[in-house]
Parts: sequence; structure tokens; C-alpha cells
Amino acid sequence: MSEILTVVSEMKRKPKILIVDDDAAMLSSLRMLLKANGHVVESAQGGEKALELLTATDYELMLLDLQMPGVGGREVLRHIKTNGIDIKVIVVSGETSFSAVKEALTEGAYDFVRKPYDAGELLTTIDNGLQSRELEQQHKALGHALEESEKLHRYIVNNSPDIVYVLDNEGCFTFVNDRTENLLGYKREELLGRHFSMLIHEEDLIEASYVFNERRSGVRACKDVELRLNINDEAKTVRYFDTHALPIELYSVGMYNPGGLDGKSEFIGTYGCARDITDRRRNEELVNFQAFHDLLTGLPNRALFEDRLKLAIAHACRSRGHLAVMYLDVDRFKLVNDSLGHAMGDRLLQIFAERILDCLRAEDTLARFGGDEFTLLLPQISNKEDAAAVARKILESIRAPILIDNQEIFTSVSAGIAMFPQSGETIETLVKSADIAMYHVKSNGKDSYQFFSEEINDSHTCHLAVERDMHKAIAQHQFEVFFQPKVNPTSCQVVGMEALIRWNHPEKGLVMPSDFIPMAEQTKLIVPIGDWVLHATCKEICHWREQGLPKIKVSINISAIQIEQEDFVKKIVNTLDDFKLSGDYIELEITEYGLMKNRENTVQKLRKLSAHGITIAIDDFGTGYSSLSYLQNFPVNTLKIDRSFVKNIEFDTTKTCIVNAIASMAKGLNLHMVAEGVETVSQLNYLTNLGCVEVQGFLFGKPQSAQVTFDLLCQRVGGELESCLYYG
Ligand code: C2E
Ligand code: MG
Ligand code: MG
Repeated sequence: MSEILTVVSEMKRKPKILIVDDDAAMLSSLRMLLKANGHVVESAQGGEKALELLTATDYELMLLDLQMPGVGGREVLRHIKTNGIDIKVIVVSGETSFSAVKEALTEGAYDFVRKPYDAGELLTTIDNGLQSRELEQQHKALGHALEESEKLHRYIVNNSPDIVYVLDNEGCFTFVNDRTENLLGYKREELLGRHFSMLIHEEDLIEASYVFNERRSGVRACKDVELRLNINDEAKTVRYFDTHALPIELYSVGMYNPGGLDGKSEFIGTYGCARDITDRRRNEELVNFQAFHDLLTGLPNRALFEDRLKLAIAHACRSRGHLAVMYLDVDRFKLVNDSLGHAMGDRLLQIFAERILDCLRAEDTLARFGGDEFTLLLPQISNKEDAAAVARKILESIRAPILIDNQEIFTSVSAGIAMFPQSGETIETLVKSADIAMYHVKSNGKDSYQFFSEEINDSHTCHLAVERDMHKAIAQHQFEVFFQPKVNPTSCQVVGMEALIRWNHPEKGLVMPSDFIPMAEQTKLIVPIGDWVLHATCKEICHWREQGLPKIKVSINISAIQIEQEDFVKKIVNTLDDFKLSGDYIELEITEYGLMKNRENTVQKLRKLSAHGITIAIDDFGTGYSSLSYLQNFPVNTLKIDRSFVKNIEFDTTKTCIVNAIASMAKGLNLHMVAEGVETVSQLNYLTNLGCVEVQGFLFGKPQSAQVTFDLLCQRVGGELESCLYYG
């Protein structure tokens, strides 16, 4: 307020006074008097001149004679009134009748001074008039400022993103801002006078009664209390509000009730505002959901599963009850995922989740542990048979073919079950036991279920021990490469060798690859092991070359896991370079499964190797998924017929037919055919007649250490069939 006054007074100029009289002598005497008293004066002789000046200039005060010829004083007064001219008029007139004075005042004159005037009286009246005008001006300015300020506050309140309300001391609305309507859908009229509880969600009514109608003030008042408000729509959706209720600061909103003589103020209502926090709540719920769920399947994740299992264990302990934990792993999911693509893999996982859920009761928890692994908690299971029944139901539902994009996909699942308390009493042991049991199913043909038992645990521990030992084996140089010769059946020459790994285990003695390669593949230890084999083989080839032996191509077995590695090609090329060997010194033997996995990627890599002169053989041919169409895509040079077909050539006509078919396929595709596992002369003859260009088997020699192989090679350079027959 004081600021407004300062502004007003700064803007003030010296007041201007207009003297209006038809009498020139009167005009001059008045002018002299006023000027002598420091006033700024102008004069108009007669009413007409006065009107003219009033139009052109602003005056603060006018001394006006009433009786003038032409335009008289009353007419001037009327003009001022009709035109809303802001001026204080003091009538200075010889007309002193009561009616004349009254009429002048009614016409808007401020005061009346009789002629002949008393100078002191006139000057006082002028001062009063000017003062009164100034006060009026200030009042007007203040009123305007207040009006503006009120408008501004109303604008701010109504455009606030929050609901702003005032309640009376009964808890009924006396004010709500515009925002209330567009957030809640209630018109202002529908709320004013109504109790606030009509807006509160029924479950929040008790809490709302404390905060909405807050009686405390200052720091003790309620802040940031979350409540739900009902919305005026048919669905009665709920929005979340962060109610910030404060009692009124009495003086600030003009709702002050001074109260009694004791000076105590009287509570007259509550002022509050409520912020819409629906979006924040939704985000929090989403974040919360994401923290405890798997986004692909919408199932609980590991954290939530473990939490539920913890509660279920506590409950089972109290009630001496049972529960079962099942570990489920989709069989050969990686193959499906790699060959059909990740989008299809994702869809499959969703279908698995749906199918498994259909086999469960509401209280069971199915969680996705990651990848193709699911865990299941059956909290109210009374015995093993009930858990087995659930497992059978799940296995059966997963076996049903899945139709995606007109493709029928057949899958299965392996399940391990751990019972509480027999197979474990903690979250960790139960999950681990179920996992071990599942692992057992996997290594015994898959698509089945198995309860955890001590025997399973022992074999698992044994597996773990092998894995641990394998880690050490590389560092401690326990691996060794053996070589088995490949012979041309017609010329009897040794035309190649196959490098086959052996493990000189410090306690178990010589361990064969079938006892550790599968696990090395599972644990990916096959990658460093394969690197080692490649290195050791190249080293040996160099040794033979240095010793003057003729060039012999050596086949190296490669696992699918190795091909998957990004630096697979680079590693082979670099190793050959390190030993200054050209690509045609080695051949890579890859099983059909190895080729099928991640086909596109594999083709690319093999083409690069092929460009370096490295040849590729399909190992154990006939046991996998080969189809003619993909064989054409791969840069394959050789088909190596699996031992199982060769073995039964003489006895099993079906197997013999397969060998014949493979032989004609190899011929048609212009591929070499190699037979492995040739143990008898008749097998040899049969295969030779079929057009086999290379044979390998105990008939020519078993795999031997590098030293023995070197000695034999030295003796039999360009060896003949006769000598080869007695080989080994
Ligand atoms: P494979 O590549 O098919 O190797 C041929 C297997 O058949 C060898 O077994 C060999 O000793 C055996 N064999 C050869 N001729 C005869 C025969 O006339 N009769 C019989 N009964 N068996 C014969 P081995 O050395 O035990 O190797 C088994 C498998 O282990 C190999 O099968 C290969 O798949 C894998 N393997 C061996 N070394 C490596 C390696 O360095 N890396 C990888 N990834 N796998 C390897
Ligand atoms: Mg092989
Ligand atoms: Mg083989």
C-alpha cells in the first residue's frame, strides 16, 4: 500500500485552478490572491470560455461564479457532470439563498463561498477541496490496484494445476477453483455448500477426516497426505491426490473472525490444495511392476519368486506343511531360437508361460528366472504325488504342437522338483535342488520330470568336480592330442590324420573325449580347449614338416560353441599364420548339429575359412538334420559317414541302404565321402566299391599319441595297404 502511495505522489504535479467569472475585476482579484498563495491559476471570463478551457486542459479545482451572462455557472456544472470531468468545483457566488446552494451542491459542486468572499475562508476551502480530491485520487488508485491484485490472484488460483478449496468450519465447500471442475468433473455449484466427504474414496474416508478438514496451522498442519478422490463420471474412476491441507491464515484471506473479547480467534474454515498425482502413481506402479516382473511374459521375476517362496516356507514351517519348488527348462530352446529367430523365440516363451499358467491354481507362483528357465512354487501341496501330477500336466500341455505363422513347432520341457522340507529348507537349497533334478532330466533324454534325491545330487557333484578339474587341466597341461590316420583304400597311402583330444587326468588316468567334451560345451570351456587343440595340432604339423615328412592334412574337430565365437575365423587364420601353415594343411570337422545351429552366421564364417583353402567335413553324417537344400549352401568338401552306419554294413540292410544313399548323395553333390569306424576288411571292401576315397578306423590304426604317430609316419611314408593293415 505504501508503495502505491509513493507512486501516486511521485506522479503528482502541482494542482491547477481555473477561475471562472464574468467580472474582470473579480477575476483579477482572485487570481492575485491565489497566486500570492502559491497556486497555479488560469482564468476564464464567462461560462463559454470555461467550457472551452475545460475541454483542452485538466484542472484540479475550479472557482465558479453562478450568475454569468450566456453560459451560466449551473450549465458549467452540468457540463462537468455529464462529461465526467474529474474536478473539484467551489461555487463563489453572490447568490446565497438556501435553494441556490443546495442546487449547486446537487449539481456536483464541492463547496460554496459567498461573495464578497473572505480571503481566509476561500483559501481554506480551496485547500480542503484540493486535499479531498487528492484523497479521492489515492483511494481510486488503491481500489484499482486491489482490483488488479484480486484479478491476478483469482487467475493464479483458477489456473493452478492443483485443486484449491476452502471449507467452512463444518467441512463444507465455500470455494473451489476452476481446476476442480476439469479434474473431477463436478461443477462448482455442485460442490459449494456440500460436505467434502462426498469427494473422498470410501476407503480413504477416515484418513481424509483428519487432513481435509485440518484445524491446525503452521508447521504442524498436514502435508503431503495421499488420498483418492472420486471422479464424477460413470465409471467412477479413481484418481490419486496428494492432499496438502492447511487451515486458513486468518488475516491473509480475509475470512478472519475476530472472536470474543478474550482475543481468541475463532476457527472458521480450512484452506487447502490438492495436487493430481495420478501420473506419478502410474509411473511408480509401472516401475514397481518392472522391478518384480519379467516384461516379456508378465510373470514374476526371480526377486518376487524368492519373496513368495520365503513367505511360503515360513507358513509351511508354522503349519508343519509341505511345499514344492519346480525348475522348468525348455528343451532345445536355443536351437529353436537360433533357427527360427528371436521374435519367434519370444512368442514361444509367452506361449509356454500361458500354457503352464493354465495348469496351475491361483495360489501357485510361476516365475521366469531368465532365458528359457521357469520356476514354479506350489505352496499348498500335501505330497510328492500331487507335485508329480502338476508336472505331468505341464509336460503334456507343452508337448502339444504350437502353431506360429503356419509353422507347427514341437517342444518339450524338463522339470526338476524339490520338496520342502526333504530336499531343502531354505530358498537357495530348494531352488538349487530343483535345478539339479532338472539337470538330471536334461542329461537323461529330456521331456520328463524328476524329484531331487541324494543320488542325483552325488552325480551332479561329480559333474561339478569334472568342471572344476577341466579348468585346471588347461593351466596344468593335462590335455594331449592323439592322431588317427585316414587312408586311401586303393593306394593304401596315409592321406590324412584326425586330431583327437585326450585328458591325462592326475587321478583318473586317460579320460576320453566323450566323458568331458559335452560338459566342456555346456560350460563353454570348449572354447579355450578348442584353441589349445588347434595350437597343439599346428605345432605338431610343423614338427612333421621340419622333420621332412610329406604334407599331411589334419582334421580338427570343431564344436558349435566355437563357431559362435566372434573371433572364430580370426583365431584359426592367425594360428595358421603363426605357424606359417597354409590353409590346406587342415580340415575342420563339424557335426551336423554344429552346422545347423545359427546357420546364417555359420555359413558366412565357413566361407571365409574356405577362402583360405581350409576344407570342411561334416562329421557323424547321417545322425542329424541334414537336408540336401542346406548342404548346397555350405562350403562343404567332405561327408564323413557316421560310425554307427559303417558298423552294421553287413548285418543291417537299412543301415546299408543309408550308406548307399549317402554315397550317391555325395557323388551327386560332388563331395568326398569318408567312412569312419572301419574295423573289418569286408566293411572296407564294401565302402571301396561304393567310391569311398578315404577310410578311417581301427582296421588301420587307433588314435595314438603324437610321439607314436610321428614314429609310425617316419616308418611308413607312402605306406602300402599291407603295412597299413597291421597298423596299431
Ligand atoms: P569323432 O570326431 O567322430 O571321432 C571319431 C571317434 O571314433 C574317435 O573317438 C575315434 O577314436 C573313434 N573311432 C575311430 N575309429 C574307430 C573304430 O574303428 N571303431 C570304434 N569303435 N571307434 C573308432 P574319440 O577319440 O573318443 O572321440 C570321440 C568324439 O569326441 C569325436 O568323435 C569328436 O566328436 C569328439 N572330439 C574328439 N576330440 C575333439 C576335439 O579336439 N574337439 C572337439 N570339439 N571334439 C572332439
Ligand atoms: Mg571327427
Ligand atoms: Mg565322427
